[in-house]
Amino acid sequence: MPTARELLNAAKSEIREVDIDEAERQLGQVQFLDVREPDEYEQGAIPGALHLPRGHLEMQVEGKLVDKEAPVVVYCAGGARSAFAAQTLGELGYTDVVSMAGGFNRWKDQGKPWSTPQTLTADQRNRYQRHLLLPEVGETGQQKLLASKVLLLGAGGLGSPAALYLAAAGVGTLGIIDMDVVDESNLQRQILHNMERIGERKVDSAKKTLTAMNPDVDVATYDVRLGADNVLDIIDGYDLIVDGTDNFPTRYLVNDASLLKRIPVVHGSIFRFEGQVTVFDPYNGPCYRCMIPEPPPAELAPSCAEAGVLGVLPGIVGSIQALEAIKMLLGLGDTLVGRLLAFDALEESFRTFKVRRDPACPACGPDAGEIIIAEYDELCMPHRAH
Ligand SMILES: [Zn+2]
Repeated sequence: MPTARELLNAAKSEIREVDIDEAERQLGQVQFLDVREPDEYEQGAIPGALHLPRGHLEMQVEGKLVDKEAPVVVYCAGGARSAFAAQTLGELGYTDVVSMAGGFNRWKDQGKPWSTPQTLTADQRNRYQRHLLLPEVGETGQQKLLASKVLLLGAGGLGSPAALYLAAAGVGTLGIIDMDVVDESNLQRQILHNMERIGERKVDSAKKTLTAMNPDVDVATYDVRLGADNVLDIIDGYDLIVDGTDNFPTRYLVNDASLLKRIPVVHGSIFRFEGQVTVFDPYNGPCYRCMIPEPPPAELAPSCAEAGVLGVLPGIVGSIQALEAIKMLLGLGDTLVGRLLAFDALEESFRTFKVRRDPACPACGPDAGEIIIAEYDELCMPHRAH
């Protein structure tokens, strides 16, 4: 029977070791793999390292490191477990694996960069299990969502489903701006609210519903009218805006402010039996003014208060807005940047249309002047610096 020492020497003879300095030169370019136990990892790790304890390596590594040709630097605390792990990875067909001699202890002793990883609690692992099962989301993606801040404009028909799904998915901070109170006529579609909340501020009702569903979510409420005087302060610090407003002056105001702050806007609108969703990503795609240079005459564009809307329809449109928001936050898939998705409830059909940046756009075009945030009249034209 070989001794542990002999097994380690045998493993080391089959693999390549690198010293701390050589490993550090690869930091940021090469995937680091931490094979220590969770309690060791939680106390500090190399930034960006994938954590996979030695005991789970054979069973889980192929789901997490898909490309077997890609270089990997394996480390543990002192360099023994990583040597065995590198040997195992070689046997599994990984072609470019090195073990970091001296391990994390020596890395730390030499003053190399490390940080305390953000880890999910046991409750969070359970709650977000279906996200963790998706390698495209995983623990890193869930941490990202928990650290994300999304501002919802409106706690009404679109804001209700969007807020519910964003909260359920674990977006850590949701801001909600709405100055209305809950009315019985809202309940046909605004599923954040209920009979007990009639007469209550919508933002307060929304906060109660969302925190009852997911205590991880911090809900910030703004019981104000969004205007030129407060828009820049309110949107500041948010990663993304979900716009469910129903009037043109506010949309133009939000557009111009979001360009200034470079915050993407997931835009949604509904009218009778139809809905539309698109994403405005400042200077990477078209903005609202590129798509709709000027508002239609008031008589052709009644707000939701005046026009009918079929129940359920806002649920579909607001849910797509939430989905686009999550994709934007996680950098997943193809978003609706540069595309308008139009839904017709009577046909039960979706169509997408290309939306291009307008080189003559008065807000985001190359010749656009300085953006001035001010109240808009019914023409909604950008204000000019004088
Ligand atoms: Zn534009």
